[in-house]
Amino acid sequence: MLYLDNAATTPIHPEVKQAMLPYLVDAFGNPSSKYYELATDAQLATSEARQHVAKLINCQPDEIIFTSGATESNNFIIKGITAARSSLGKHIITTNVEHPSVLATFHYLQEIGFTVTILPVNEEGCITTQQFQEALTPQTIFASIQWGNNEIGTLHPIEAIANICLRHNIFLHCDATQVVGKLPVDVTQLQGINALSLSAHKFFGPKGVGATFLRKDQYGIFPTITPLIHGGGQEQGLRSGTLAVHNIVGLGKASEIALQHLAQHQHKLDVLEQYLITLLRDTFGEHIHFNHHSKHKIPGIISVRFSGINNELLVKKLAPIIAVSTGSACSSSQPSHVLAAIGLSLDEIRQTIRISLSPYLDKEALDLFKTL
Ligand code: PLP
Repeated sequence: MLYLDNAATTPIHPEVKQAMLPYLVDAFGNPSSKYYELATDAQLATSEARQHVAKLINCQPDEIIFTSGATESNNFIIKGITAARSSLGKHIITTNVEHPSVLATFHYLQEIGFTVTILPVNEEGCITTQQFQEALTPQTIFASIQWGNNEIGTLHPIEAIANICLRHNIFLHCDATQVVGKLPVDVTQLQGINALSLSAHKFFGPKGVGATFLRKDQYGIFPTITPLIHGGGQEQGLRSGTLAVHNIVGLGKASEIALQHLAQHQHKLDVLEQYLITLLRDTFGEHIHFNHHSKHKIPGIISVRFSGINNELLVKKLAPIIAVSTGSACSSSQPSHVLAAIGLSLDEIRQTIRISLSPYLDKEALDLFKTL
C-alpha cells in the first residue's frame, strides 16, 4: 500500500525506533529520581533530546517544554498566556484556518469573556500583514497564527507578522506543527515569535509527544504563564507529570534526523510534488483542480479536486492501494473549514482529497496514479 497521508501522521523512522527501544524496556528510570544510574540515564537521555529539539528550531534547550503533542502545546500557550495577561487587555487574534486545537480554544476563551478576532484568509489560504495590522487594537494582548496549513499547505507571512507583534508588544504564538522538520525554523532570528508548538509524529517520531518553545527574556526568565497541568512541577514547573522518556528520546532522534536532512528532504519533496502534479494533470486533464497556493506552501502537501467525484467514495476506493485523506484527519467527519475558508462550495469541498508526500518516497511509486 502506498501511504500518502503524511500530514496526518508519519511512520516512525527506523533509527528513531532503535533509539526509543531501550527506554521502553531496561532503561525505565524516572528522570526526576536521583543518584542511581537508571535515573541519571533517563535524565541524560531527556536532556540530549531537549538539545536536539532546541537545535532544530534554534532556541535554548531550557526554552523547550515537553508535552503530549501540539494539541496540548496549543492549549497550554493560548490558555496560559491569555490568563496571565488578561489584566492588560482582552482582545486576541487568530485565523479561520487554524487547527481545531487552536480554534476551539479561542471559542472557549470567547465564552469566558475575551474579544476574539478570527481573520479570514484569502482564496490562497493566507492572511496578509495589512489585515493583521488593521485588526490590532489597544486591547490586543495575544495572537496565535499557524505557520503553515495542514490541509492545503499554505504558509502565512509569519516573519512579517512576528515583526509587527514585536513592535506592538503582542505575544505571538505560532502553531508550526506542519512546518517543523520540513522547512527551516529559526526562532532566534524571528524574535517576534514568543511561543511555538511542534509534534513528533509529523516528522517521523512517535505519537503522543511534542514540545512547546517558550521564549525566555534576557535574564533567562519565562513570561508569566498559568500551567495547563499542575502537579509535581516537572518542566520548570510549567508542565507537571512524569516525563515519557521513550517518547521524548524519539522526538529528540526525529529532530536530529530532520535537521541533518532538512535541505535535502525539502528539495526531494519539491521534486516529488512537481512530478505528481504533472502526472495528475496528464492523467486527469481538466477534471482536476489544485486548491493550494502554487508557491508559498509546505512542500509535499497537495490539495486536489476531482470534478464530479465524491471524495469519501474516492478515498474509500483507493484505500486498499493508496492511503490519502479527504482533508485533515482531525475533523474528517465534517466538511473542511479550511476549504470553506478559501471559498470552495460544499460540492467542491466534497470533491477534494489531500495527498501528503514523504521524502522517503521514490517518484516511481507515484506512477501508481497512472493506473487508476
Ligand atoms: N496543529 C496542526 C497544524 C496539526 O496539523 C496538528 C495535527 O494534525 C495539530 C496541531 C495537533 O497535533 P497533535 O496530533 O500532536 O496533537
